[in-house]
Amino acid sequence: MGSVAFDAEDRWNAFITICRRAGHGDGPLAGVPVAVKDIISTAGIQTTCGSLVLKGYVPPYDAHVVELVKAAGAAVVGKTNMDEFGMGTTTESSAFGPTTNPVDTTRVPGGSSGGSAAAVASGMVPMALGTDTGGSIRCPAAFCGIVGLKPTYGRVSRYGLVAYANSLEGIGPMAGNVEDVSRLFSVIAGPDARDATSIDRPYTHTPSSDRIRGLRIGVPAEFFGEGVDPAVAERVRAAIGDLADLGAEIVECSMPSMAFALAAYYVTCTSEASSNLARFDGVRYGPDIVSKRSWHEAYQEHRREHLGKEVRRRIMLGTFALSAGYYGKYYAKAQEARKNVGEDFARLFADVDVIAGPTMPTTAFALGEKTADPLSMYLADILTVPANLAGVPAISVPCGTVNGLPVGLQLIGRHCEEELIIDAACAYEEAQR
Ligand code: GLN
Repeated sequence: MGSVAFDAEDRWNAFITICRRAGHGDGPLAGVPVAVKDIISTAGIQTTCGSLVLKGYVPPYDAHVVELVKAAGAAVVGKTNMDEFGMGTTTESSAFGPTTNPVDTTRVPGGSSGGSAAAVASGMVPMALGTDTGGSIRCPAAFCGIVGLKPTYGRVSRYGLVAYANSLEGIGPMAGNVEDVSRLFSVIAGPDARDATSIDRPYTHTPSSDRIRGLRIGVPAEFFGEGVDPAVAERVRAAIGDLADLGAEIVECSMPSMAFALAAYYVTCTSEASSNLARFDGVRYGPDIVSKRSWHEAYQEHRREHLGKEVRRRIMLGTFALSAGYYGKYYAKAQEARKNVGEDFARLFADVDVIAGPTMPTTAFALGEKTADPLSMYLADILTVPANLAGVPAISVPCGTVNGLPVGLQLIGRHCEEELIIDAACAYEEAQR
């Protein structure tokens, strides 16, 4: 790839901070400008999480992944826009204004890693880091027509990632093609003693289209169920037909736990968020508490003024779900449903190698279309959250358009079998050229 200059004008509000640094060294990413989602800590560079509560906060250390991309010779050229603390599907909840979709600027880029996706799709950078708690890499990749990989839980260290929902999330690569996603993944994957959930599985694979022949691909009926735009379903069915033409064997199957997956996800992520976000009290990070009233009032004022509506909604929901008397009814039930999702995947993966379906049920929404109705925005995550609940890897690869807007094909794999979904995505991508 060589060295690429970064002198782009950000017409999409993809970046919260631009640093225009140069890479150095002769590593595998020598001279490559990489954009980093603004929830990943960067030493000496403001890290806001898309929130006023962290405006001006400059971390004293780099996240593990940032250390790695720098050591590989890449330049961190900016911090990308995102839904506040990763809570959203459109990048509209950012305190720094929405990012627009480079394919159609009247549309959202998806979220929550919308800035990273737009930075890549607009051509400003060849690759970017995003995070995925419930689809935040795959959704914007699908909406902007790029490739995004959510790795196996633990395969990439979360050290230096500001926590939203620890048990669900991870950092992953986004790029214009499968090869670049694979290249960035090989730089960031591997063990790290500073993340207790880190697993010792480095990635050194070179994508190959050869393994598609004889690959067994399961297609759960639920991925084409209610709420999935028929035109999107048709496009993805056609893509799966292309995989069959390349020699894959298509197996129709079922994933009954999908009925509860979205509810399980939203109870879990809000519960974890309510605990994680307690640290933003105005004392340790961000703007100082200005109130001269009691501590209690000062905290209230600080959080009311500096946390956005969606973040406050989720803290309230999670606090409720965890409260005495409701814990068994909500949180414990959600964990049961989460277990069922894992069991469904285990059962399916005993028979098939990869599971395929749409990444998102629709194409990119119009800006503002869903902001007044949070529930309808949550529903858009139905096809991405199962992989997070089970901790398995999933990739979104562009598979054509509907009315000019990109559609993503999602390929989900067994734990630590990123190699296989990357190879399947590579075969598909190659056949489209
Ligand atoms: N849209 C989902 C949410 O709002 C996913 C977000 C994410 O993956 N960070 O929670």
